[in-house]
Amino acid sequence: MEKRDENISAMCKPSIGEAGRTGDWRTLRPVIDQTRCIPSVKKKSACFLCWLYCPEGVVKAAIPVEIDLDYCKGCGICAEECPAKAIQMVREDQSDE
Ligand code: SF4
Ligand code: SF4
Repeated sequence: MEKRDENISAMCKPSIGEAGRTGDWRTLRPVIDQTRCIPSVKKKSACFLCWLYCPEGVVKAAIPVEIDLDYCKGCGICAEECPAKAIQMVREDQSDE
């Protein structure tokens, strides 16, 4: 009998563009405060929980951390998970970036 792979789950790997470009329906966008973001403050690769948890795979684990807003869906998970509270979800109609 074939051995069952216990590691198989219903999860899929996030990847940029999996659900296409976001378009104009997003109501909130993440804005990173680099003065609080751990890699920027410490000037070294650290934390990157936003990269880890983003379901769209649109966070670049770099210094500084970057978010590809063309594909970001505005779910706010990155802001929820950020231990430094460095990400604010800003209303699209109040954002001038
Ligand atoms: S989770 Fe927050 S502190 Fe950590 S890398 Fe992302 S924005 Fe920076
Ligand atoms: S708001 Fe959601 S989709 Fe956009 S960067 Fe954060 S976790 Fe990813």
